[in-house]
Amino acid sequence: MFERFQTINSTFPRTDHILEYKNRGGLVFGWLCTYVPEEIMHAAGVLPIRITGYNQETELEDGSAYLYINNCSFSRSCLQMGLRGEYEFLDGVVGGSTCDGARRLFDLWRNYIGTPFHHVLSIPRKFTEEAHTLYYQQVVQFMEHLEQYLDIEISDEQLLHSIGVYNESRALLKELYELRKLDNPPITGAETLEVLNASFRMPKEIFNQYLSDLLRDLSASGCTRNGNARLMVTGSVLTNPEFIRSIESQGALVVADDLCTSTRYWSDPVLVSGDITPLQAISRRYLNNFPCARMFPSDERFNRIIELCRDYRVHGVVSQIIRYCVAYAHDMPLLTQRLQSYGIPILALDVEYGTSGSGQIQTRVQAFLEMLGAKVR
Ligand code: SF4
Repeated sequence: MFERFQTINSTFPRTDHILEYKNRGGLVFGWLCTYVPEEIMHAAGVLPIRITGYNQETELEDGSAYLYINNCSFSRSCLQMGLRGEYEFLDGVVGGSTCDGARRLFDLWRNYIGTPFHHVLSIPRKFTEEAHTLYYQQVVQFMEHLEQYLDIEISDEQLLHSIGVYNESRALLKELYELRKLDNPPITGAETLEVLNASFRMPKEIFNQYLSDLLRDLSASGCTRNGNARLMVTGSVLTNPEFIRSIESQGALVVADDLCTSTRYWSDPVLVSGDITPLQAISRRYLNNFPCARMFPSDERFNRIIELCRDYRVHGVVSQIIRYCVAYAHDMPLLTQRLQSYGIPILALDVEYGTSGSGQIQTRVQAFLEMLGAKVR
């Protein structure tokens, strides 16, 4: 079951599912930020997939020629893949004004790659009612733009159906994460990241089926994973499972994470209740979701991290921040202070997007584990 997810990730972006979708005449849109509401695209009959960069750290000649070097290597890696035609099958691209790197990536994508449909949402940095009103207007504009472009009307019933499909996916991922709370979970952190990567690279309906099968297999297998310390990984966008594997190769087990490709992607369902419309429910969920470091105040994010540390009985946190990722870099001193006030040690690593974890990183992880009192293999 697990190999299914690996196959999707190793063939992405030209996976069988995406090509089949295109061959049947379906439209595929790429999204660039977790503040882009996928349910709206899904309700319009579009397949939303997440644009990510190369699977491993790589030379970024083209990306760096267009995006100045002090943009993060994630943005440059995505752009390079786009410039080299790896995403030429996309019918649309949707971004969010989350940080300068993501914003400029969108501009250059629109200018040089020429994906037919493009839309960017302005994302407020606060959670106030005024911010919700502003974000809701953005969500409405996005839906109207999509309806106009596709010459369709998206009904409440279609939105409710899509909310159901996405919420099912979130519930299944929650079930998978519950297993990671066990003393000896049946899945490693690196394997979990394979599942997560696939979750935004394929039709959700098929992903839900695959994940249900995996959960059934994991319960039946009796398989257990051991580590001499339980770690959480936090920081910038991360998609290479080899990085987690390199940490786990030092004897630890990664049992929790706060990343836009992991818990922050799936943790909060869309809640439709009372008088609110499906679109209002979607809007509220996306702005109130487990926050990115760009949001203010940071306490909401920090509180959630502390909660995760408690729930997953984490001994230490590994922060991996991509160079020039300002949002996470600037957040670090406050996060360190907060974690230390709870007696949770943190290891801060500067990385490039796609890193598999160098020898130097492994040495630092080893020293960190020794400090945690773990027995390193
Ligand atoms: S949040 Fe950081 S890693 Fe993500 S696009 Fe912005 S600068 Fe790059």
